[in-house]
Amino acid sequence: MYRIRVYGDPVLRKQAQPITEIDASLRTLVDQMFQTMWQAEGVGLAAPQIGRSIALTVIDPRPLQKDTEPLVILNPRIVEERGACGFEEGCLSVPEIKQDVIRSEFVVVEGMDLEGKTLRIETGDLLARILQHEIDHLNGTLFIDRLATVQRQMVQAQLDAIEKRQRVQTRIKANAKTRGQDGV
Ligand SMILES: [Zn+2]
Repeated sequence: MYRIRVYGDPVLRKQAQPITEIDASLRTLVDQMFQTMWQAEGVGLAAPQIGRSIALTVIDPRPLQKDTEPLVILNPRIVEERGACGFEEGCLSVPEIKQDVIRSEFVVVEGMDLEGKTLRIETGDLLARILQHEIDHLNGTLFIDRLATVQRQMVQAQLDAIEKRQRVQTRIKANAKTRGQDGV
């Protein structure tokens, strides 16, 4: 199980690197990402959210939409999109904040599966929204970046609090590491 990185962690702002090799360690990573996502009761998780800046996301819309199945997609990109609709989103990396986000209604996404085969997904369902949210993560974008100014103002204090908490936790970890090296 991985620790989920939260708002303020620089890894969430990096451009994820494309995956060129599928090996056993990648498969293990995918399994662990599913476990982490299920434990956190999320419907999607991108690798940067667990501190790995690579273009990989796992998705499982079943808690919100029954007739779906888990999906792993490597190097996903949007090749077509149309329409626009609003829907309330949250993010495991931005705890406790939920806001309506306008996104394309239909998307065509291309990428690769874990066997290295080309994946092409055309959807106007909840999956379209999740895919856009996760692909944003791979580009260093968070859903709060897509809020209207007034929405952003409403959540800014919460965001500042999350970021501050994140900094304190990082400092505690760094101190613990230093002590460990000193053998104390
Ligand atoms: Zn997210």
